[in-house]
Amino acid sequence: MRILNGKETAESIKLEIAEEVKARLAAGKSRPHLAAVLVGENGASLTYVNAKVKACAKVGFESTLVKLDADISEEELLKEVHKLNDDPSIHGFIVQLPLPDHIDDQRIIEAVSPEKDVDGFHPLNVGRMVLGLPCFLPATPYGILQLLEKNDIQTEGKHCLVLGRSNIVGSPMSILLARNSSPGNCTVTLAHSRTKDIKSLSLQADIIIAAVGRPHFLTADMVKEGAVIVDVGIHRIEDKTKKSGYRLIGDVDFDEVASKTEAISPVPGGVGPMTIVALLKNTLQAAG
Ligand code: NAP
Repeated sequence: MRILNGKETAESIKLEIAEEVKARLAAGKSRPHLAAVLVGENGASLTYVNAKVKACAKVGFESTLVKLDADISEEELLKEVHKLNDDPSIHGFIVQLPLPDHIDDQRIIEAVSPEKDVDGFHPLNVGRMVLGLPCFLPATPYGILQLLEKNDIQTEGKHCLVLGRSNIVGSPMSILLARNSSPGNCTVTLAHSRTKDIKSLSLQADIIIAAVGRPHFLTADMVKEGAVIVDVGIHRIEDKTKKSGYRLIGDVDFDEVASKTEAISPVPGGVGPMTIVALLKNTLQAAG
């Protein structure tokens, strides 16, 4: 069994990005600049945004954090988005999801200029991804592709089961792994909450991408010997032995499943750091 160590893989990609930044600056080009918009004080969102800002500093990007009150109106938030669209010093930006209930996420996503949409959520980027055209790939699936590639996981001809069909993870992941490219060329099954008998599907899968948002959903009896497992889920569960009072677990029952696998990504330290690195790669691309 091999650990698909997202933390280490992400660090090595960050070194490559930092070199590219140095080369850009030496050639007289601008320093890539990422902005992140955070609405409200959601603890998990704040953690993610801070990690993204920290990663920018590590690779030599400029970053700007735009913190807005939870009760900001949709119109005011749209104005902030337009300001970022129009600011030539900012190459790319993200609006951290989820947004408060009174704001329509989709309206905000569609207001972000596709040229600055480094999360890859705008319909134009999603459409270009489906057609295999140049675009910003959604950060989590892009990070997973990098994790597979950098760890020499062969995907061609493999049966891949993607658990979950969200717009940001499962659905684009299924499209990217089915594409005629490398990584890709998988035969993909996409499962969701209405899928019958997931176990019969998972037992046939060579690769499983678990993104259902249910703690320890994937158990050892659902996995065939030698499978490759990527765990996307992140859940905070109470743990009084930790200073923070909680620990993170994934959608996969790692302790039970790991010994059956050829390779498996842990939580934390798997997909999370790869998502951030994918965002950095998109920002570098946006800087041109
Ligand atoms: P989501 O929007 O809640 O989507 C969950 C998907 O799982 C849906 O398609 C749902 O089916 C399906 N599902 C739920 N329960 C199921 C069940 N019992 N059997 C089969 N399918 C089921 O979640 P998401 O945004 O994709 O995120 C998934 C997980 O990944 C979460 O834990 C999230 O925190 C984590 N995440 C991590 C990262 C990272 O960087 N590591 C990034 C994004 C998300 P329906 O469509 O039928 O409802």
